Amino acid sequence: MAEKVVIAGAGLGGLSAALRLAYAGYKVEMLEQHERPGGRLNILQKDGFTFDIGPSFFSMSYEFRELFDSIGEPMPFELNELNPLYTVNIEGREKVYRIFKDLERLALEFSAIEPDFERKAEKYLKRAGEVFHDTEYRIVKKNFNGMLPFLLSMATVPKKHLPKMFRSFWAELGRHFESEDVKIIFSLVAFFLGATPFNTPSVYNLLNYTELKHDGYWNVKGGMYKIAEGIAAMLEKKGVKIHCNTRVVSVQEDAGKMLSVTDQNGKVWNADLFVINADAASFRGKFLNRRGFTEKKLDNMDWTLAPFTIYLGVKGKIDGIAHHNYFLGNNFRQYAKTIFRSTVAPDKPYYYVNVASKSNPECAPEGCENLFILCPVPDRRVKHDWNDADKLADDIIQNLGKRVGYDIKANTISRTIYTPLEWEKMFSLYRGSGLGLAHGMNQIGAFRPANKDEKLNNVYYVGASTHPGTGLPIVVIGSKLITEKITHEHPVV
Ligand SMILES: Cc1cc2nc3c(=O)[nH]c(=O)nc-3n(C[C@H](O)[C@H](O)[C@H](O)COP(=O)(O)OP(=O)(O)OC[C@H]3O[C@@H](n4cnc5c(N)ncnc54)[C@H](O)[C@@H]3O)c2cc1C
Repeated sequence: MAEKVVIAGAGLGGLSAALRLAYAGYKVEMLEQHERPGGRLNILQKDGFTFDIGPSFFSMSYEFRELFDSIGEPMPFELNELNPLYTVNIEGREKVYRIFKDLERLALEFSAIEPDFERKAEKYLKRAGEVFHDTEYRIVKKNFNGMLPFLLSMATVPKKHLPKMFRSFWAELGRHFESEDVKIIFSLVAFFLGATPFNTPSVYNLLNYTELKHDGYWNVKGGMYKIAEGIAAMLEKKGVKIHCNTRVVSVQEDAGKMLSVTDQNGKVWNADLFVINADAASFRGKFLNRRGFTEKKLDNMDWTLAPFTIYLGVKGKIDGIAHHNYFLGNNFRQYAKTIFRSTVAPDKPYYYVNVASKSNPECAPEGCENLFILCPVPDRRVKHDWNDADKLADDIIQNLGKRVGYDIKANTISRTIYTPLEWEKMFSLYRGSGLGLAHGMNQIGAFRPANKDEKLNNVYYVGASTHPGTGLPIVVIGSKLITEKITHEHPVV
């Protein structure tokens, strides 16, 4: 008889784990508090517009191929490589930089500000690539059963990378490039880690390698939610039920095992094994009363920024904007210094804009654009209140309209705002942190909440705040790692 697995949470981590486990012969059932599966990878349909509410592109697309290859099924959605990867608009600069993966073309974009760019970039990215490949299988795609195996694995990473641990991301960029704009653009990825380029070690410039050299960035034809829809349809065919609007409110355990979880209606869900896709750190505190994860301890951990997101349906076509765009101010150092700590909304917001209707006309009525604006803000430990949400949205929309030469405000026919508060409520994101626990050296590998519970032998974790970490391809890797553990420790009989 197959072992029964209950998965709490149907985000991408939970969905991909369900897929692997169901195909390995386990009887899987999923509980999801939201009305739809997908977690942060979700959609909003309103006033004739369809918006992807969270992720809009990803690196390491081959992790999705691996997922479907591993179960012998075709990929249920179509990938689309971004070219250019994105554009960057820095306040006060006339030029909008188009960031190409082709370094020869990118060199032309930077020709006025960074002479000999291509040679410098090749050298910089070669080193970053070495870090990527020297850690991929030793650290990222590896299960650790405790601190010692992790430290032993770390010790196998070639020593030549050691200086990069002690040099900041920004300092490493300074060794290769002179232009402030080039350094700013290359260091944007550091913010995804929950850090600034000034205080994160330069080993993380491997992220520049992933975007500019290795696999680039990808999205999905017809919208990102096709990923969740595609996996959910495959699960249904395989007999896996996803119970939406079902929130786990308590867990029952005995003698080192989880026996069941109970939902908000008092229904008890029994299983042999449990996979927790809710945040691996806050779940341990809230439901398992673990001393290492009390609110006080959680608040002392490092978390990624929170999302302030705006979804706009706009009448007319906006020519002055591409599909993926960053809009930055002209005070980068000041911004980096204050963004994690400021208790007020930023007065010079830095934001990302995705205009999905540029490449996917079905997501907006004819002659209209749909705009997704993401402005990273401090999480709710720092800025608790969001009564000023409309003002921040107005400021961003006005700033954007000015910079792209289109009266967005006057042409808005649909507007929705999610503050960190809504994000926290919708998906139980701790203090509204958008990507979960940060990725400083003190919160990776065995220093991150483990993917197997410390005390309960039948409980595993998958998703952003457990090993190996956050981001769509990374949680897919996480699902592979726990499947390896589960099939080894609790084989189907
Ligand atoms: C605005 C935004 C933009 C992003 N952009 C990108 C991007 O462009 N590229 C990229 O790679 N990544 C991006 N990310 C990060 C990416 O979305 C996450 O890393 C990834 O989706 C995490 O998946 P997950 O399965 O760990 O978590 P989640 O998607 O959060 O899934 C966890 C699920 O568990 C459910 N749950 C929680 N508690 C309970 C409970 N008690 N009972 C039942 N269900 C519960 C939640 O409702 C949720 O559905 C973005 C994130 C945000 C917020």
